[in-house]
Amino acid sequence: MNNHSSPVNILVIDDEQDIREGCERILSRMECEVVTASDGTKGLDILETQDINIVLSDIKMPGISGLEVLSTISEKYKSVMVIMITGFSTVETAIEAMKKGAYDFISKPFSPDQLRIVVKRAIEKLRLTREAQALKLEQQKNLADLETEQSRTRAIIENLPNGVLVTNMLEQIVLMNPVAKKYLGLTTDKGIGTKIQECIEDKEFCDFIKAVSGCKTDGKNGSASNKSHELVLSDERYIQALGKPVMGEDGDCLGAIINLSDITAMKVFDRLKSEFVSKVSHELRSPLSVIHEQLAMVMKGDIPEESDDHQYILGRAKDKTKNLISLIGDLLDLSKIESGSTGNEPEKIQLHNFIEKIVEFLNVEAQKKDQILLFNLPEKTIPEVEADPIALESVFGNLIANAIKYTPEKGKIEVTLDTKNHYVRVQVKDNGYGIEERHLSRIFDKFYRIKDDNTRFINGTGLGLAIAKTLINELDGDILVESKAGKGSLFTVLLPADIN
Ligand code: ATP
Ligand code: MG
Repeated sequence: MNNHSSPVNILVIDDEQDIREGCERILSRMECEVVTASDGTKGLDILETQDINIVLSDIKMPGISGLEVLSTISEKYKSVMVIMITGFSTVETAIEAMKKGAYDFISKPFSPDQLRIVVKRAIEKLRLTREAQALKLEQQKNLADLETEQSRTRAIIENLPNGVLVTNMLEQIVLMNPVAKKYLGLTTDKGIGTKIQECIEDKEFCDFIKAVSGCKTDGKNGSASNKSHELVLSDERYIQALGKPVMGEDGDCLGAIINLSDITAMKVFDRLKSEFVSKVSHELRSPLSVIHEQLAMVMKGDIPEESDDHQYILGRAKDKTKNLISLIGDLLDLSKIESGSTGNEPEKIQLHNFIEKIVEFLNVEAQKKDQILLFNLPEKTIPEVEADPIALESVFGNLIANAIKYTPEKGKIEVTLDTKNHYVRVQVKDNGYGIEERHLSRIFDKFYRIKDDNTRFINGTGLGLAIAKTLINELDGDILVESKAGKGSLFTVLLPADIN
């Protein structure tokens, strides 16, 4: 009989002991908890301290009357149901009691059955009320859960790194996150609810969304195919839009979901890759075709084997192959460095002796051009730097070799080692051809070589400075250039060291 495992608590208030005891006996058998009070005041005291569901109260009692008890209960304990016990003579009073909020009444004298029926009705009502309350609580909880779920989903969509745009079958925007708004150049309040063609200027993009929404399921797997479209923003960024139709149960398209992602980096990488491939192909092709022609001439047999020309042509071909081998060596080094390894462990290096040896070695080349190559020795001891010696040899070797190459005969090259702030500084200065301002920012690019009247016939691949810059940057150092056409150049390498 009890609902939701809560017992039904009944309070019986009557001045007649027989009625109190009779009620207690009958109602206890109905699995109710029964308490009794002999007058209204005691009854109200019990209500104050105990959780009572139903009150059976006599109307006529000494002290406060049943009607007074009823009005206090209706005021203070709204959920408590009151059944009035009335005498024959007080039917009118019973009616009045009903008007004042009593749930039911029972007339004295009553049989146990009559009591059971009246109380059963009240208990049933109590059960229904409890059920309704539980249902309401459940609903509130579900709603709260739903709201949390919805706001969580909303937060995720709002914070996605990609743009998300959802349209309905009327081609109206129903959802759009901030990234999508940014990519499509829309102001915050514009968009949701409007037709795509009314807020998106790019007609091709609108057509793309329409095409996605227009998809019918294909017979084989029941899903419509993905479509993609590329947007180019005014700041040269590339956005890829991938679209997927939203399909209803009957296979009709309800709208479209568009995912927008920034693919600029991929595009730049693609462009660099093809530029690199075409540069490398070019660098390989011209010397190879010269070698091919030279060998063809020799093979034709027009040039006598023992003649100087014969030797000369073969010698030229050999030189070219040597350059090609060195180019491929540089490329391999570069790819190794760029993938993050020079292959050697860093060591502590004392640059004083280290550079002196490189200068001595390259002095042979300088002497061939009657140049003066000086190493300005540091006044104080220079702190060691930690680096891969082979990498440093390639950097300084290239800088000094460049100075020799790009300085005419009888020129002067000075290499200086000292410190500046927290860095060890190596400077290579020449009074050679110099570099025009417009080339300065590009000489560290791969394959970039200046071809003018002075340098046209100087061999090189244009990789030396690119390799040097990558290596020095990896050591948290820096490489800088100052130069003036016709006056000479100054290359500065800064390497971090323990300098207080
Ligand atoms: P390699 O890969 O064999 O070193 P390279 O010397 O041509 O070939 P880099 O060392 O990268 O290539 O130099 C790039 C370009 O910068 C050179 O081709 C040259 O035009 C210019 N350059 C470099 N150093 C000097 C310098 N000291 N004086 C004038 N121009 C220079
Ligand atoms: Mg070089």
